[in-house]
Amino acid sequence: MDPFPASRRIALKQLVSLGAVGALGMLRSGKGWAVPAGSPPAAGIPGFDGRIIARSDGSYESLRQALVWHRSKPNRYPDLIVQVRSEAEVAAVIRYAAQNKLKIAIRSGGHNPTGASLRDGGICLDLSALTDIKVDKQRQIASVQTGVRAIQLVSRLAEDDLTFPTAHCMTVGMGGFLLGGGIGWNHAYRDGMATFNIEGAELVLADGRRVVANATENPDLYWAVRGGGPGLFAAVTRFQLKAYPLPRAIRVSSWILPLDKLATMTATLDKLAPAKDPRLEILALLMHNPEAPPDAPPEQSKICFLTAFAFGYSAEESRAMLAPLAQSPIATEAVVKEEDQPFTLMELFPKFFSTATPGGYMGRYAAESAITDEPGKILHDLSDHFRTARSPICHVIASYGLNLKTHADACFSSIARHYVGCFAIWDDEKDDEFYYRWLEQATTHMDPYAKGHYVNEVEGQGHPERIRQCYSPASWQRLQTLRQKYDPQGLFHTYLGQQG
Ligand SMILES: Cc1cc2nc3c(=O)[nH]c(=O)nc-3n(C[C@H](O)[C@H](O)[C@H](O)COP(=O)(O)OP(=O)(O)OC[C@H]3O[C@@H](n4cnc5c(N)ncnc54)[C@H](O)[C@@H]3O)c2cc1C
Repeated sequence: MDPFPASRRIALKQLVSLGAVGALGMLRSGKGWAVPAGSPPAAGIPGFDGRIIARSDGSYESLRQALVWHRSKPNRYPDLIVQVRSEAEVAAVIRYAAQNKLKIAIRSGGHNPTGASLRDGGICLDLSALTDIKVDKQRQIASVQTGVRAIQLVSRLAEDDLTFPTAHCMTVGMGGFLLGGGIGWNHAYRDGMATFNIEGAELVLADGRRVVANATENPDLYWAVRGGGPGLFAAVTRFQLKAYPLPRAIRVSSWILPLDKLATMTATLDKLAPAKDPRLEILALLMHNPEAPPDAPPEQSKICFLTAFAFGYSAEESRAMLAPLAQSPIATEAVVKEEDQPFTLMELFPKFFSTATPGGYMGRYAAESAITDEPGKILHDLSDHFRTARSPICHVIASYGLNLKTHADACFSSIARHYVGCFAIWDDEKDDEFYYRWLEQATTHMDPYAKGHYVNEVEGQGHPERIRQCYSPASWQRLQTLRQKYDPQGLFHTYLGQQG
């Protein structure tokens, strides 16, 4: 059967409802650590009037599970889940934890793949109710609490004709996204990672002090906030972010090619990506063909999908960005195409990354990533392995043209021109072993071409070296030194899988 009959155009909307650039989760169920006996009293935190849920509470387990967005819930159990409502309460809880020797893990939006905010014992400090946004339109600065979700920031900024490169999925929290790096909409235009657009931050340190960090005040903390990821030694309560004028004439083109045309796609992208306008975001995917019958052979059930988003301020500008692709062999070889479609930024979220929307798909998740100069080689090396993924939701995404550069004032230091993420997403718990192994095998095809990994999409538990490989050796060393200086007692959990 021809999987791409001309008469049956595949709805691109259907094809791309599969998971954002960073949908992940690497949590082996059934392998949790021992749970400490007894829980601290669930009351009596001076200066705190919010909600505390202890392990003995009836609502504990459903709340614990809800803290992690995807369906692979880790078997890790904090003694207390503490939900704060103000920045002052964050400081109060941290002082209480330090006095009572309770370790702290922090949660903002709960989308971390590894469920890093769930640790055994101590406190899970839930900042998701901290959702204040203040915008200084004149200076184009947004002051954003860390529980704010992507969609909330984009919609608030649009009121002032501004925007920011948030995550592609609307419910991702700004806290974890920005701390880890943040590959956002229109990313290359803003130096590749959203974290480079943090102008300042407010933090609570392990001793309960509230401090400001920017280029001149506490520059070492400012450096650590810009990339420190899911193992920072402090709680960030607020970011000052550099916004930019809202592109009013976004246009999108998408093409589907059979998987055996992968070489055409990657050769074209290798040629065009270096010269592309930085405001043209190009995502190349290996994915399942939703029109393939269940028993279709692998070569018919997997496809290449290329989508390009032009963030221009006029239709002409956006069309000019898309033109080289529209005139390339990708367009000639495509079996399905949808070219030059107008979109608003708000429309892009549900159309292209709808997993977190009602009716979207939330599965069991695992992901790995490579920051690389050779995405084409990774896609080729991965393609045979990719064919073996039975779940139709598994996919690989290459983002061409992040063009990352070293920033001396940021600890984010996985530097290359492009990114590739491999996502195992499946339904059934009984397939856990298969997909975790499948993903681990995928790394053997990615790692030879990787200059580093993306700390928001990497499995550290069981592979501590993968977290370290997210940073340059000098940045990793400096992070450890700062941890010793600001959190000598180890109040805050470090990265999953690392000691400390
Ligand atoms: C569906 C989906 C789509 C995604 N899309 C993208 C994307 O487009 N681009 C991209 O780059 N990534 C993407 N990601 C990955 C995402 O960036 C990470 O999962 C990120 O950790 C999510 O942040 P969060 O606040 O929601 O997560 P959380 O799980 O709440 O936080 C993750 C960790 O960050 C730390 N942390 C969070 N807040 C604070 C704070 N205030 N102070 C100190 N430490 C804190 C903690 O260690 C915490 O455990 C996506 C993930 C999913 C599941």
